[in-house]
Amino acid sequence: MSSPGPHYYDMDLTHAPAPSVARLVVIAGPACSGKSGLIKRLLTDLGKDKIGFSVSHTTRPPRPEEQEGIHYHFFTDEAFEMAVQNNEFVEHTEFCGHRYGTSKRAVLSVLETGKLCLLQLNMQGLKNLKKLDLNPVCIWIDTPNLEELEERITERGAESEAELEERLAAAKEEKAYGRTPGLFDFLIVNDNFDVAYDELKQLIERLYTQTAHQQQQQQHDQANSHASP
Ligand code: 5GP
Repeated sequence: MSSPGPHYYDMDLTHAPAPSVARLVVIAGPACSGKSGLIKRLLTDLGKDKIGFSVSHTTRPPRPEEQEGIHYHFFTDEAFEMAVQNNEFVEHTEFCGHRYGTSKRAVLSVLETGKLCLLQLNMQGLKNLKKLDLNPVCIWIDTPNLEELEERITERGAESEAELEERLAAAKEEKAYGRTPGLFDFLIVNDNFDVAYDELKQLIERLYTQTAHQQQQQQHDQANSHASP
């Protein structure tokens, strides 16, 4: 697995409004816990006003239903490595033989709209992000038990038998990691999709309201400090 280097620390968020306010929301959880489906519905419901999705980069080949620029930016190994060398990522990692990364440009393009920025990360990506001073809110999406997770992963399949085995092993490790006390701000168990979605939607709306309030407060404080002699 690739490890974070010093380049993770120089992300320039100063062009985004109110950078000190927590507006990065990480949705993490084992593969097949339902993160993508939940995010997709959130974007349809709240995307216009409140949230935007940071579209990740990956060297994994697209699945039949996936579209360039919507689900991922699909990169060759060479293009991905060049982006790493050019210091374009906030975080990047390897997962089951493919590389994944969040670009600074993807994050900034959402933050500049004033919306909350949703990031979908695996365990290692989250570990890397937590080392930065970006103050993310972390939500862990889980399945009720390991058996169900394994069933979903097997059903989805993978490029090869070896990758499937690797994905099953990773899911086991990630599931255990997700239950580490104090790691996440919120835990949602995706037993029933509609129930999990309602919980997530309420949570995001609450975060958005809180953030908008903090932002107004910050602007008010700044205006006052400029006005005072
Ligand atoms: P999949 O290949 O199933 O789409 O994704 C594999 C894993 O990579 C999932 O846990 C997914 O959340 C994670 N992932 C997707 N995008 C990124 C990213 O930009 N960075 C990191 N670290 N993980 C990602």
